[in-house]
Amino acid sequence: DGLTAFRGEPLADFTIADMRAAFPAAIAAVHAKAGRVIPLSIGGKTIETADRIPTVNPANPDEVLANVCQAGISEVDAAIAAAKAAFGPWRDKTPRERAEVLLKAAAIARREIVALSAVQVLEVGKQWDQAYNDVGEAIDFLEYYAREAVRIGTPRRMGREPGEKNHLFYEGKGVAAVIAPWNFPLAISLGMASAAIVTGNTVVFKPSSLASLIGHGLVDIFKEAGLPDGVFNFCPGRGSVMGDYLVEHPAISTIAFTGSMDVGLRIIEKAAKVHPGQDYCKRVIAEMGGKNAIIVDDDADLDEAVLGVAYSAFGFQGQKCSACSRVIVVDSIYERFTARLKEACESMKIGPAEDPANAMGPVVDASQQAKVREYAALARQEGKILVERGLDAKGYFAPMVVVEGIRPEHRLAQEEIFGPVLSVMRAKSFDEAIEWAMSTRYALTGAVYSRSPRHLEKARKEFRVGNLYLNRNSVGAMVARQPFGGSKMSGVGSKAGGPDYLLQFVDPRVVTENT
Ligand code: GLU
Repeated sequence: DGLTAFRGEPLADFTIADMRAAFPAAIAAVHAKAGRVIPLSIGGKTIETADRIPTVNPANPDEVLANVCQAGISEVDAAIAAAKAAFGPWRDKTPRERAEVLLKAAAIARREIVALSAVQVLEVGKQWDQAYNDVGEAIDFLEYYAREAVRIGTPRRMGREPGEKNHLFYEGKGVAAVIAPWNFPLAISLGMASAAIVTGNTVVFKPSSLASLIGHGLVDIFKEAGLPDGVFNFCPGRGSVMGDYLVEHPAISTIAFTGSMDVGLRIIEKAAKVHPGQDYCKRVIAEMGGKNAIIVDDDADLDEAVLGVAYSAFGFQGQKCSACSRVIVVDSIYERFTARLKEACESMKIGPAEDPANAMGPVVDASQQAKVREYAALARQEGKILVERGLDAKGYFAPMVVVEGIRPEHRLAQEEIFGPVLSVMRAKSFDEAIEWAMSTRYALTGAVYSRSPRHLEKARKEFRVGNLYLNRNSVGAMVARQPFGGSKMSGVGSKAGGPDYLLQFVDPRVVTENT
């Protein structure tokens, strides 16, 4: 097919002087442009609406980075109509033609990698490296799905019966609604949208209101990449105004969603109902929450385990569905591990992500901040506080909390917090640790630090999560290397960045010819 083999984008490396030097200037440029209006983009046209939501810097909420126009029902209708009109011709292009657009988009994002990272540092409070790696992951999705679309795009001959020819092939389904989260605001947005697009669908994209400036980046990238008008429609809007309407609309055939379990389950329920004029049985791909555990066995390498747990729990303030929110420590190593974990947590600097010396920044908004504070209060009731560190500053800073004495029946062991709160659980044996790890409704990520081959083998079989990591941290799955996604209440659908993902966006067809 003439395409080179997929290679992942290198991770952030601030020992490279140019990379280090580029960030402050790029961040300054985002500050300088603060306050502009972000319009909708429908059928290639820019549309301004009167209803606007400010998107702010969580480290300094007085700083309005942009005022984002919000779609009402008529704009959603227009976006769906534009997507519908663009569908036929786009579906009928060859997979290779569609893949070329993604490859161009990848090249554009690569050229803009620092600028795109800088927006994340300010709009959602991502640390420099985490922001850079999010953009890197977005590029990986584009590069990988382009190749995957070509791979699955060749009709496949089925059977060798004399007198007949059977060909299996895949076609886009129609208009997809892509509903994106704020926590991986470029990677997951571009991942879901590009998967729909490269398989021949057209898209109505709803960014999170907390990350709409980053979301708007998709408009520029796809436009420059030459995507025909109407294939990608940027349609920010209030969930309360347009969320259900978009999902329930009879012209939507696919919904790709990443976000909370509550919203995901609501989408699944709404999508099940058939409305007048609807001729598609809707498919929902929903990537939801986690309550992920890391097990520290009695013979674990503590240098590795302490760092891995702290990074998985507090990187980007714990606002990842892959984040570690429970560390289950085997009894005999408990005191040694927790003493070192406490020290490590106390040494992490807290402050705005804009300053790369800070390891932990603000959470994304006031409601996340309030939620973390409530769980901090609950932690004092259910367990014993090992670390609680805040920052008394303007901005949505929430305390870093490490609480011990938590058992599976506690709320802290069951409910997803999506913030920097880590529960420490003391298990009497490795077997009990596995049992506790599996004692939630979620099954997304997990990790085990152990030197025992027998225990690692047991974990492989019985620690049933979508992404299990042995002797490393539980975050930062790489496209094509660690296809990402869970089961149980963590979601429905196949893994992002994996070989089955695109198949969710297509209708398989078989044509049999009697020869
Ligand atoms: N893929 C990300 C990781 O492995 C998590 C994605 C999410 O939080 O939605 O860390």
